Amino acid sequence: MQARMSRRAFLSGAAAMSTVGTAGIAAAVEGKSAQPAAGKLPARGEFVIRGAYVMTMDPTVGDIARGDVHVKAGAIVAVGADLKAAGAQVIDGRGTIVLPGFVDTHWHMWNTLLRSMAGDKRELGYFPTVATLGKVFTPDDMYQGTRLSAAEALSSGFTFVHDWCHNVRGPDFAVANLRALKESGLRGRFSYGTPQAHPPTETIDLVDFERLGRDWKSHANGGLLDLGLAWRGMGAAPAPIPPEVYRKEFDTARAAGLPISVHVANLRSRAGQVDALAKANLLGKDVQVIHAIWITPEEIQSLAAAGSSVSLSPYTELRIGFGFPRTGELLAGGVTVGLSVDTTVLSGNADMFAIMKAIQNVENSQTENEFKLPARRVLELATIEGARSMGVADRVGSLKPGKRADLIMVSTRDVNIGVFTDPAHTLVEAAQPSNVDTVVVDGRILKRRGKLTAFDTGRVVGEASAALTAVRKRGNWW
Ligand SMILES: [Zn+2]
Repeated sequence: MQARMSRRAFLSGAAAMSTVGTAGIAAAVEGKSAQPAAGKLPARGEFVIRGAYVMTMDPTVGDIARGDVHVKAGAIVAVGADLKAAGAQVIDGRGTIVLPGFVDTHWHMWNTLLRSMAGDKRELGYFPTVATLGKVFTPDDMYQGTRLSAAEALSSGFTFVHDWCHNVRGPDFAVANLRALKESGLRGRFSYGTPQAHPPTETIDLVDFERLGRDWKSHANGGLLDLGLAWRGMGAAPAPIPPEVYRKEFDTARAAGLPISVHVANLRSRAGQVDALAKANLLGKDVQVIHAIWITPEEIQSLAAAGSSVSLSPYTELRIGFGFPRTGELLAGGVTVGLSVDTTVLSGNADMFAIMKAIQNVENSQTENEFKLPARRVLELATIEGARSMGVADRVGSLKPGKRADLIMVSTRDVNIGVFTDPAHTLVEAAQPSNVDTVVVDGRILKRRGKLTAFDTGRVVGEASAALTAVRKRGNWW
């Protein structure tokens, strides 16, 4: 039954595909789904958003109260007031804030299949749940989890994701995961990591990792995706990673010019990990560290000196009890900071508005200072600073002629967000994913009038649910 339904949906999608082209763009602009089946993206069009409150997040341009954004062939042509854009389709921007799309800096997308499954007892906590069920995932389960994540990302206003894939159980697993990213149209990085429950004495499959790097062009989705290493680092007691293992992984990535990302000092018992990396010469501009909660002022200096960025994920850090993100101290120390989802097994959803609000509120509360982390600064972390931390700020993260067109339109007319007052405070404090009206990635309109244009969301959730049922059965997890 399920298979027959899917086949029918697939066939109607295939029929619709033949009419894609100008009609597809028009349908996307109108907010109608051009393709009911996932896998075929709308064409890049030429359009101009008119009369929006435009937050460019570029300090030289600033905000434009009644602004236009002209997009053509995936790039931003112009940003300003009353732009001339003859022939471009017009999108009415009145009643919306237009800003750069959100940049996620670390997200275990595959395990969205296990959303909200971290339980209330030690044996049902996040780590045992993900390790036990991760072991019985198939490549298709990886695809289903990542596709569900990708659909949620677009729906919530993310245009860039860092897919931190720590369950590559074989070459097919990476490929399945990448297929989901490719079909979504998102920009992002895929970081190749160890399978769940991998022995600390073994490296990742370096041959497969290097092969993927060599063949990357066939996975890059026209330059939207790049490759990195999801590195375990030095590990920690009771399972430290031997130097010959962590060095080999690190050196392979660095020799190939691939960025490296590692979780550090997330627990009090793991204090000193940044210092250990610094002493071993394992920091650098190509190294992103995640959490970095239990760090000293000297370690913040090491990160800044090395040019390593930090990814903070307040919702998972709070939920699992790691501690409080050190946002203010990192920023004061000159470290580039990006925000992240981490995992919806813990956070429940992928909501950058909530993440921004949490990062601000924790910082202000801890410093007993209403004015410590301004709303606009938080918005920078979610956009341009996130892009800087992922090495893509030359292409995205702000709205500027010549940059790629990654942007969102947030409605200011819904009951939870009207009336329109201060736009930065409104976005950080009042907005939620349901207010995201339109999402554009690389000039493709992937959400319009609140609906995804390249996904049948009912089918995405339905197929993911079926996959999870089978995973629970195989993992004997009821
Ligand atoms: Zn993580």
